[in-house]
Amino acid sequence: MDKEQPDKARRVVLGGAAAGLLGAAMAPAAAQPAGAAGQAPMAVPVYPEPPFPKQQQPWPGLASKMTPRPDHGETSYRGSGRLKGRKALITGGDSGIGRAAAIAYAREGADVAINYLPAEEPDAREVVQLIRAEGRKAVAIPGDIKDEAFCKKLVADAARELGGLDILVNNAARQISAASLLDISTAQFDETFKTNVYAMFWITKAALPLLKRGAAIINTASVTAYDPGENLVDYSATKGAIMVFTKGLAKQLAPKGIRVNAVAPGPFWTALQVTGGQPPDKLPEFGKDTPMGRPGQPAELAGIYVLLASNEASYSTGQVFAAVGGRGGP
Ligand code: NAD
Ligand code: MG
Repeated sequence: MDKEQPDKARRVVLGGAAAGLLGAAMAPAAAQPAGAAGQAPMAVPVYPEPPFPKQQQPWPGLASKMTPRPDHGETSYRGSGRLKGRKALITGGDSGIGRAAAIAYAREGADVAINYLPAEEPDAREVVQLIRAEGRKAVAIPGDIKDEAFCKKLVADAARELGGLDILVNNAARQISAASLLDISTAQFDETFKTNVYAMFWITKAALPLLKRGAAIINTASVTAYDPGENLVDYSATKGAIMVFTKGLAKQLAPKGIRVNAVAPGPFWTALQVTGGQPPDKLPEFGKDTPMGRPGQPAELAGIYVLLASNEASYSTGQVFAAVGGRGGP
C-alpha cells in the first residue's frame, strides 16, 4: 500500500462525517453547486480509496449509515434537460446506483418513481426530497419485488402516479457472498434469482403494454456476468441471465422502437457490499484490486444511466455499458 493512502482515506472519511443529510458526497467535487451548467468550471473529482473502516449492517442496509457515505451525485450532478418530461420507474432507487440514477434523472427533467424495501424508508425519504428539490414529481412505492402480484401493482401504481411510463430501470438486487457452493442454501439461491431475475421479468412484463416508441429499459447487470467472483456463484449467474435477457428482449422490442440495454458496474461503494455482499474482512480493501485501485462511487454511473435513457443513445440497443475501473466487463 502506498504511504499516502491512510491519509487520503482519513481525509475523505472526515469529509463524510462532516457532511449534512443531503451533502453526502465525499469528494472535493462535492463542493460544487448543483444546477445548470455554465457556472464554476468542473473540478476533477477525487474519490475515496481503500482502506475503508470495517463496517457491517443488517441487510438491506442504509447508504446513510455507511462510512464514508457513498457519493450519489447529491451535490455534484448537473442536469441539462436531457430527459425533460419523461417518466421513470427505478427499482432499488433508495440507495446506491439506483439513487444516483434517480437524482440524475430528476435533474435531467424526469419525474421519478422509486421502489425499495420498507426497511429502507429513511434512504428513500432523502431521495424523494432530492427529486422534489428539482421541481419534479417523486413517487415512493415500497414493497418486496420477490412477489409477482406486487411487481404488477408497482408498475401500475407508478404509471398511474406519473401519468405514464417511458423509462424502466431494473436495478434492485440481492447479493450474498458464500465461500463454497455448499454454503448456498436453496432458500438463498431462490431469493437471489427471485430478486434479480424473476422480478426483472415480472416488472418488465407488466410495463411492456405501457411503453411507447422511444421508451427505454435499462437493466443492471455486473462485471460478474463476464468475470464471476468465486464467492458469488449464484449472484453472478443471475447477472449473466440479466445480460442475456437484455440482449434477447432488445431484438424483440427493436421493431417497436423500445430500446433495452444493460449497465455492468465493477465494484461500487454501496449498501449491497456492507450487508453481506462482500466477506466482512475483505471490505476494507474493496475495489483495491482494480487498475484504478478504488471502488466506483454511484455518481460515476449516473451519466451512463442518463445516456441509455435518452434519445442520444437512439441506435444503441442490446448493449452492455460498463464502468469497472479498468478490468473485466463486456
Ligand atoms: P444497494 O443496496 O444500494 O441497492 C440495491 C437495492 O435493491 C436496495 O436498495 C433495495 O431497495 C433493493 N432490493 C433488494 N431486494 C429487494 C426486494 N426483495 N424488494 C425490493 N427491493 C429490493 O446496492 P447497489 O450496489 O446500488 O445495487 C444496485 C444494482 O447494482 C444491483 O443490481 C447490483 O447487483 C448492481 N451491482 C452493484 C455492484 C456493486 O459493486 N455495488 C456491482 C455490480 C452490479
Ligand atoms: Mg437500499
